[in-house]
Amino acid sequence: MQFAPTADRTFASYAPLLDDRTQRAIRERAGAVSDLTVCHVNTTASGGGVAEMLRSLVPLSTDLGVEADWQVMTAPDAFYEVTKAIHNGLQGDGASLTEAMEATYHETVAENAAAVERRYDVVVLHDPQTLGMVGHLAERFPETTFVWRCHIDLTDPAPETLAFFESDLERVDRVVVSRQEYARPLDTEATVIHPAIDPLAPKNRPLADLTGEAAAAADLDRYPVDPDRPLLVQVSRFDPWKDPLGVVEAYRLVAEDVPDVQLAFVGGMPDDDPEGQEIYDAVEGETADDESVHLLTDLPDAGVNAMQRAADVVLQKSLREGFALTVSEALWKRRPVVGTNVGGIPLQITDGENGYLVEPRDIEATAERCRRLLEDEALAERLGEGGRETVQRRFLLPRLLADYCELFADVTR
Ligand code: UDP
Repeated sequence: MQFAPTADRTFASYAPLLDDRTQRAIRERAGAVSDLTVCHVNTTASGGGVAEMLRSLVPLSTDLGVEADWQVMTAPDAFYEVTKAIHNGLQGDGASLTEAMEATYHETVAENAAAVERRYDVVVLHDPQTLGMVGHLAERFPETTFVWRCHIDLTDPAPETLAFFESDLERVDRVVVSRQEYARPLDTEATVIHPAIDPLAPKNRPLADLTGEAAAAADLDRYPVDPDRPLLVQVSRFDPWKDPLGVVEAYRLVAEDVPDVQLAFVGGMPDDDPEGQEIYDAVEGETADDESVHLLTDLPDAGVNAMQRAADVVLQKSLREGFALTVSEALWKRRPVVGTNVGGIPLQITDGENGYLVEPRDIEATAERCRRLLEDEALAERLGEGGRETVQRRFLLPRLLADYCELFADVTR
């Protein structure tokens, strides 16, 4: 286990984004649990939505008096092969684990649990990778309250993958999911908390506020896209659930009517995602002869920000999706989003009001909505404004902290 580096955040810096009543309510909720110590545990300090949130949530929590740590597991590559299979299994793509895979999982979680040095009042284990630590930790720290924060879509899990976690799930005090439906296959009490984005992060700040290296990374001249041509962007890990090949198909249909359209994939390769390279290669192979398609990997956050803002349409063509922070990020930037009607995306997009929702396999509809938005600037602007307002109300970081504080009060009293 390692402590992960966090951002520099104080609650006061969010004040311009929150009305007085909301600020008071958040302070009160934090005040009610300020005697607690909390530790969040996940598998990666960068890349992917969970790291994104913890980097800002943890220091904000401490600033409001709820002392929080963030620790990241250390694990061999073989562990991530196993947890990828588990992740896919929990999202319904059942390939059972071999005995050797189960052993790798158990060994790694035991080692990491043994490396936790102090007792916390609440430990939040993020995603299935960390869930197996609960038994080991509970033995060492019987007074601690354990929360499993599951960020993935659990609507239709493979029964054998769920069964693998049966005893761990019995030991956690509360499960937290992003949508009520995700808890249905579980036999435990679950709380719904929606994720959130940090408006002060280099990923989301207005580009004019960026300085130094971040400002340089946000300079579009560094990237191969042509600012004078229409641009579709999908920001996502290279992952089959994000359907990058479906995005290519939709783009090709758009290009039949809008020949100068460009497509950019902005996709990181997080340490805990071994499938990334394979999917990247597939997309690259498919688009190698098309100069209007760009694959941009491992951009700095300010570069992601600039690409999202440069997009005429942001796509999120996921087949399964826990939440999709990328959607909130784009909506916050007033970009029109065409997203699929799966998982957390319909929590954020109301079709026709602040974006468009399409069915996951409907390439034709995806292309049609993109075309419509490229052709009608006023429409794109109206949906973009709607998106900004949605995120302002429901998906900013201080609200997430308030929800966690309420949860902590609930599970420890
Ligand atoms: N992300 C990034 N660089 C990339 C691709 C993704 O910083 O090249 C970020 C993205 O901006 C978002 C997070 O990774 O903040 C992905 O979170 P999301 O909930 O959309 O999907 P997940 O990866 O957790 O399935």
